[in-house]
Amino acid sequence: MNTRPLMFFGTTNLDLCFNVERLPTPGESLMGGLTRYPGGKGANQAVAAARLGLKPHFYTRLGDDDAGHWLLQSLMQAGVRADAIQISAGEVSGSALVMVGDDGSNMIVIDPGTNLNVTPEMIERAAEFIARDAIVVAEMGMPISALNRLFEMKADKGFELIFKPAPVRPGLSPAAWASVDFVTPNQTEAFELTGIEVLDFHTAAGAALKLLDLGPAAALITLGAQGAYYADKKQSFSLRAFPVKVVDTTAAGDAFNGAFAASLAESLPLREAVRRALAVAALCVTRRGAQSSMPSREAVGEFLQ
Ligand code: ATP
Repeated sequence: MNTRPLMFFGTTNLDLCFNVERLPTPGESLMGGLTRYPGGKGANQAVAAARLGLKPHFYTRLGDDDAGHWLLQSLMQAGVRADAIQISAGEVSGSALVMVGDDGSNMIVIDPGTNLNVTPEMIERAAEFIARDAIVVAEMGMPISALNRLFEMKADKGFELIFKPAPVRPGLSPAAWASVDFVTPNQTEAFELTGIEVLDFHTAAGAALKLLDLGPAAALITLGAQGAYYADKKQSFSLRAFPVKVVDTTAAGDAFNGAFAASLAESLPLREAVRRALAVAALCVTRRGAQSSMPSREAVGEFLQ
């Protein structure tokens, strides 16, 4: 497979996942089953791409603790290239408490740990692993100063930039926004960034226009079970999600983003890249967990036949 180089920047977490009959209400105690999964938005996206057969680099920062070593191991086993990953002595790795109800809905609380200790200087060092003509993917779990530095380097390094603005936080510079090639929010993130409630493809069109005003060249909004809406200055289109039986929607957006990036790295035409991302995300929601729910290249190929 002849692909462009791909590098992800973002968070890694230990996901402590409780399966519960339904999500608890405030003050309520419920029984549930606990499983630990490797997670974190950046790591999930990198693994989604690796499961599709790519060999992405990933930059993240882990603590020198049990969780950190276990997370590093699982990333490498999934086929992610770990040369740029930092293990930091005396720091605690990020973790997330995830509750998933029988209907697939979820609630998540995150302790960012080392993820929030990434500095612009660390990003500069990690950028040595960005090859010419690379596709770079970032999310918003790292400190904004680190993201601003990464985005600034685009002009020099000449990469294409996909940005998942999650979790939405203020502070990204106008120049950083203008360097984004594809911004890929979900409905909540699109609302937080534009003030427009995204309920369907029609309202997504309005939000996408406002997103483009922030500076990115293109906006690709995911709308859960409805699908995805794409717009740039010249064209727009929407594609419906694949109907599937939902088991757990955790990491659906990460599956979508990782697969979209992988598909661009394989030079698929834009619509095909979005369709493949929808297929990968659809398969992801039929399985439990985050990285463990990312489908293989073969499974996606069969699904799309
Ligand atoms: P998450 O926070 O759970 O990782 P997200 O909120 O960032 O996900 P969504 O917009 O909910 O992202 O979903 C991303 C993509 O996942 C959708 O565009 C769609 O392709 C797929 N998806 C999500 N839910 C479903 C569903 N019920 N059926 C089919 N596909 C789905």
